[in-house]
Amino acid sequence: MSILVVGSVAFDTIETPHHGRADEVLGGSASYFAVAASYFAPVKLVAVIGEDFPAKEKDFLASRNIDLEGLSVSKGKTFRWTGRYHEDMNIRDTLDLQLNVFSTFSPVLPQSYRNSPFVFLANINPGLQDGVLDQMTTTPRLIACDTITHWIEGARKELEALLKRVEMMVINDEEARMLSGETNVVRAARKILGMGPKTLLVKRGEYGVLSFSPNSVFAVPAYPLEEVFDPTGAGDSFAGGMMGYLAASGDLSEANVRKGIVYGSVVASFVVEDFSLNRLRTLTRDDIDRRYRQFVSLTEF
Ligand code: AMP
Repeated sequence: MSILVVGSVAFDTIETPHHGRADEVLGGSASYFAVAASYFAPVKLVAVIGEDFPAKEKDFLASRNIDLEGLSVSKGKTFRWTGRYHEDMNIRDTLDLQLNVFSTFSPVLPQSYRNSPFVFLANINPGLQDGVLDQMTTTPRLIACDTITHWIEGARKELEALLKRVEMMVINDEEARMLSGETNVVRAARKILGMGPKTLLVKRGEYGVLSFSPNSVFAVPAYPLEEVFDPTGAGDSFAGGMMGYLAASGDLSEANVRKGIVYGSVVASFVVEDFSLNRLRTLTRDDIDRRYRQFVSLTEF
């Protein structure tokens, strides 16, 4: 089953404490999600790029079998984001953000996208995320969304309206605390589940992921790596791998969602091994399955 993703396609500039920097490399929440999900299921991408977006990057996305009918080209420059990681790579600062063509982005779904059974609303204005759902002609089997502190602070009403329409929310611990007003992550999760989603996945960087639903909690560590080059996009790749697995199997049982969470964690663990989406340019499905088996033995007792 196919997955629709709406979000950003960007050029990122990344500064790291020990592995140097990368300038104007492919990034964006939708790029990471789409490529990660493409290992499992067909993906339909909705985003905007500027006239400066290189054909070779478009070809890369197309080579992953990602449907680009919804990738529109606007007059102007592609969205740019610059981030710097601290010594503790779970912490980063945004140094610069140039919205460019993204500032007027209003997603319009091509006709062939409107019956997608799986929908991921990556980080964009919650009002626009809501507008995407209004364009669906059939009820999706699973709607999931992400957000960032910027929208929790600046568009809370719109975000709360959106949350009534989504089954799954995927955010990091800082966002969960801000959204709920609770410092304890378990209490935060309980409050957010009261806002609409049936499942809340809390991403905790190198500490892994916590999954909350009304009757259960599931914890998965991050795959232990000796070196993390660039954590950018780990969260979106996690969501892509997880939803990709669910869309491929079509099984939304709790046991299968847990497997999806492990697949998502595996894909994210590869992404952070290099800058940008570079590791995904060579990664194979066999590599993913091999590390999945290692992950199973890592967590077995
Ligand atoms: P993650 O590390 O999973 O949070 O994703 C980082 C990606 O999100 C980067 O590739 C950025 O290009 C993109 N990004 C950063 N800020 C924004 C924003 N305000 N809106 C949309 N995408 C963003």
